[in-house]
Amino acid sequence: MPLVNSLELIQKARDHKKAIAAFNIHNLETIQAVIEGAAELNSPVIIATTPGTLGHAGIENIAAIVKVLALQVNIPIALHMDHCTSFDTIVECIKSGYTSVMIDGAHLEYSENVELVKAVVRMAHAVGVQVEGEIGKIGGVEDDLFVNEADAAFTVPAEAKKFVDDTGIDTLAVAIGTAHGMYKGEPKLDYKRIEEIKNLVEVPLVLHGASGVPDESVKKAISLGMAKVNIATELKNPMVGAIRKSLLNPEQNDPRKYMGAAKEAVKEVVKNKIKLCGTVGFAAEF
Ligand SMILES: [Zn+2]
Repeated sequence: MPLVNSLELIQKARDHKKAIAAFNIHNLETIQAVIEGAAELNSPVIIATTPGTLGHAGIENIAAIVKVLALQVNIPIALHMDHCTSFDTIVECIKSGYTSVMIDGAHLEYSENVELVKAVVRMAHAVGVQVEGEIGKIGGVEDDLFVNEADAAFTVPAEAKKFVDDTGIDTLAVAIGTAHGMYKGEPKLDYKRIEEIKNLVEVPLVLHGASGVPDESVKKAISLGMAKVNIATELKNPMVGAIRKSLLNPEQNDPRKYMGAAKEAVKEVVKNKIKLCGTVGFAAEF
């Protein structure tokens, strides 16, 4: 079916104490892995790109592939721009058919951040596109964005409410103890903070940086109100692992073979994450 509005997916997931998995993709094979995996489980899904991916593959190219593949399956799929710091890039994404965007102004002072986010919200809402914002700083590496541990800051519930009220965003990414990239050591999610934020803020909450976080912790976070879970690093590792294994054969020169193996490895993780988010069969609700 044609691409759908991601807020509708996320809101319904929250009503059912589920979360929509959002997967960061990089190329044709990873898009196929996500869409085929979600379709096999009859689950809604969000396909996400970072600015780095768009620099690599091209906004229009990625959007074209996603739109064509989405038409071939009968599950709701949204196309989302993740961690974008540029108003202009967001306009380009929307022109190419993206159905939601994240504006990341975390590097700015609060008032400048609010101005940027408000401008994006006004423009995006005019064309029916949803906007995700972030308050607090999620540590780790995402694309060329790096937040070291000392600068990472948990979201303060009252600030989260103010930020949502000041900007008009539709969904809110919160820093509650996860980190971008593969988590090193035992992550401790601040469940109490999730509940406090959820009680103050009406918009659905988004969990970033869940790679390496134990399944039980992610499940608990979802049960407390996280309605979208972003997955990036956990797709990269099995992908490169499958390619490395294929290339151990020095005769292997067929991209269809080693990229095919990569695609299958990614699809496996996609299906496991969808199960973790509780949305197997949930496409029937839309
Ligand atoms: Zn993120």
